Amino acid sequence: MRATKRIADATQESLHRIFTIAEAPDSTLGRLEQEMSQNLVGFLNNHIVASKNALTDIEQDFINPHIPEQPEFVSDHMHHLLDKLVAQSVHTSSPSFIGHMTSALPSFILPLSKLMVGLNQNLVKVETSKAFTPLERQVLGMMHNLVYQQNDDFYQNWMHSAQHSLGSFCSGGTVANITALWVARNKLLQADGDFRGVAREGLHRAMKHYGYQDLVILVSDRGHYSLKKSSDILGIGQENVIAIPTDEYNKIDCKKLVAKCQQLSEQNIKVLAIVGVAGTTETGNIDPLDKMAEIAQQYQCHFHVDAAWGGATLLSNKYRPLLKGIEQADSVTIDAHKQMYVPMGAGLVIFKDPASVSAIEHHAEYILRKGSKDLGSHTLEGSRSGMAMLVYASLHIISRPGYEMLINQAIEKAEYFAQLINQHDDFELITRPELCLLTYRYAPKSVQVLLARNDDEANKSLNLLLGKLTKFIQKRQREDGRSFVSRTRIEVSRYGGEKVIVFRVVLANPLTTKEILQDILEQQCELAKESENFLPELLTMAE
Ligand SMILES: *Cc1c(COP(=O)(O)O)cnc(C)c1O
Repeated sequence: MRATKRIADATQESLHRIFTIAEAPDSTLGRLEQEMSQNLVGFLNNHIVASKNALTDIEQDFINPHIPEQPEFVSDHMHHLLDKLVAQSVHTSSPSFIGHMTSALPSFILPLSKLMVGLNQNLVKVETSKAFTPLERQVLGMMHNLVYQQNDDFYQNWMHSAQHSLGSFCSGGTVANITALWVARNKLLQADGDFRGVAREGLHRAMKHYGYQDLVILVSDRGHYSLKKSSDILGIGQENVIAIPTDEYNKIDCKKLVAKCQQLSEQNIKVLAIVGVAGTTETGNIDPLDKMAEIAQQYQCHFHVDAAWGGATLLSNKYRPLLKGIEQADSVTIDAHKQMYVPMGAGLVIFKDPASVSAIEHHAEYILRKGSKDLGSHTLEGSRSGMAMLVYASLHIISRPGYEMLINQAIEKAEYFAQLINQHDDFELITRPELCLLTYRYAPKSVQVLLARNDDEANKSLNLLLGKLTKFIQKRQREDGRSFVSRTRIEVSRYGGEKVIVFRVVLANPLTTKEILQDILEQQCELAKESENFLPELLTMAE
């Protein structure tokens, strides 16, 4: 009995300690914290080892389903985390990690994140966030201004209005797209006479009331998969996201878009939204947004632009014209955690009309009361962190010209890399960069000569083999750990629209140098030679 009581007392005491006393500066956690704040890149270089362990091996470290009965000292636990987790994580901020949209962070982000977590504000309501609510509304206003460039009176009127919102802050592009299409759906199927609207009566009765055969969403075949998720949860169905073919530059074919709209309208199928992509995830291309806006206008449907990745390009005066027409969109998705160098969990959807969000307004008794300025009354998510602070701080610290520099340099680096690939005998550029993203593959010169001579049919087997080689190189490179590019499979018009496996690189890290890019190509050449079957077979075919 007495022993149990002693343990209970000790536990009680340590519980009190963890809420009140910081870890000593010379403890494991204290030392790690110092190391991190002094030099984050150095810390990551030190603690992430390029481990060759397979994921299935790592799983063995994370297989125990029992919640511990014994408390652990923070320091002991830190050793465990460093060893099993940190060491085997991915160095996303390494300048030679050029495969994905997740990139390096400016150094001020770390202490600011600590402040954000320490304050632990909940943006769902004013009662738990106070100044953070107007701050978030201002960030939405700044981003609205970036897209729509309204005058100052406009922002004076709407930015802090309880019944309006210039947008909705959320965890990422997926939730932003869902929110945009949710607004589009509820506006289209709004209350009308006896019908109280889709939000209250559901899709089945809404369709009966409005007499539509079906609802669809139109986007190019390069659209992001989050649109299918959106369509799924909004009750519209994944198959009702209709993919419109793209041209050789991966941009939606507007003639085919119009033809589809016409056909659907004759079948009494309503287009809920036309979605333009500003920076496709796979190739980084931008749809002709101005033409799409016209088509959406003609067929009276919501025009949404998914600029999750490419939206930050608007910060560059030089490249902003690439997105012309975006200002005609009814809603725009932008991810701050992609090209705005903010950590993950920062997505936004911006609405042209500040009254749009009334279509998705929700109220509750204890919070989100009518007339309150609680942000939670028009967000899909409930409790949310003060992430807007990091976007706000970044916009101030980096400023628009700073962002312009980052964006311009990234695009120019991609152009340089494209040149490098074009000049190299054994690489083939597949999609040239419009923003800082491109795709390419390894293809020995003799094979490229053969590809150019052959017809599409004869090229099938070559492309298949080149695909296997690309996959081989990409996997080896990832395992090797010195550098990383991603891979995807895209239709290539030059090969009759056949799907081809390619390397994909995103050149957003400002610390990636030309030398690193040269090294990556050299490494890939070396790795290609390690393939025992594919390369020799290809070379024989091309003899
Ligand atoms: C990344 C991306 C998304 C999804 O955003 P998440 O933040 O990953 O949810 C949607 N659309 C496009 C074009 C994207 O690049």
